[in-house]
Amino acid sequence: MSPPRPTLLLSVDFEDWHQLIRRRVGASNWQQPGPALARETEAVLDLFDRLNARATFFVLGMAARSHPQLVKRIVNRGHEIGCHGDAHLPVHTQTPREFGADLRAARATIEELTGTMPVGYRAPAFSITRAANWAYDVLAQEGFAYDSSQHDSPAIRDRAVPTGRAPHRLQTGLWEFPIAVWRARSARIPVGGASYWQLLPTRLLLRGLDNAGPLAGLYLHPYELDPQPLRAMLPAEATAAQQAHAKLRETQRNGARRRARGALEAIAQRFALIPYGEAHARFGDGA
Ligand SMILES: [Zn+2]
Repeated sequence: MSPPRPTLLLSVDFEDWHQLIRRRVGASNWQQPGPALARETEAVLDLFDRLNARATFFVLGMAARSHPQLVKRIVNRGHEIGCHGDAHLPVHTQTPREFGADLRAARATIEELTGTMPVGYRAPAFSITRAANWAYDVLAQEGFAYDSSQHDSPAIRDRAVPTGRAPHRLQTGLWEFPIAVWRARSARIPVGGASYWQLLPTRLLLRGLDNAGPLAGLYLHPYELDPQPLRAMLPAEATAAQQAHAKLRETQRNGARRRARGALEAIAQRFALIPYGEAHARFGDGA
């Protein structure tokens, strides 16, 4: 019998790139549902089927209200639904009360669409910083069982550093599943996010994931598997500065988009890819 394959946790931060980019540049039409999320979601679901991978989709409440049928499709294809908050505001810019309200709004939407209460959480942009450590108390009070917001990437300022590479229990009782990071002697190399995969040859990416620790986390966004190039499509009255800002983001994101599929195919050849809830169930609540 062959030995069990090493395993990584696969996740998608399910959000509407068009809503977020338009809000970021201050475009008036930002709340309009974007035209790309449906084709992106199909591409993601098809690829995961082909790779025999199941994932946790951390669903953003406002994206779910704009695209309710897509959330149902994800559930029907056998994936786990987690919570990515409601409005995609950094946790450290909120008060504990506002954060609790944001969680409840997202969960109400998700529960209405899926009939299930998500128990896993991922903060927008990994924004549970050291200053926002209180967020774990709020998550526990709100009934969450696990979190995957700790990402020891040098790109995240004032980040909460995981106490270990492996999944571990926090003081609040929540389980924490850290994002994959390759801790080499002189550097910390984030290897868990598809946005970084374009920067590394496959050989080094796989080597980094081998060294990232047991059940390390991977995260993608639907736009990273979009079969078509991303275009922000700002309204006609957008200023030159808004257009330039959007153009920069488009270029960055299209770079990641070109590489994500091939990188995930290579990862799936070496690792079994499972959802977070499955890993959480292995530890159980009293472990
Ligand atoms: Zn996000």
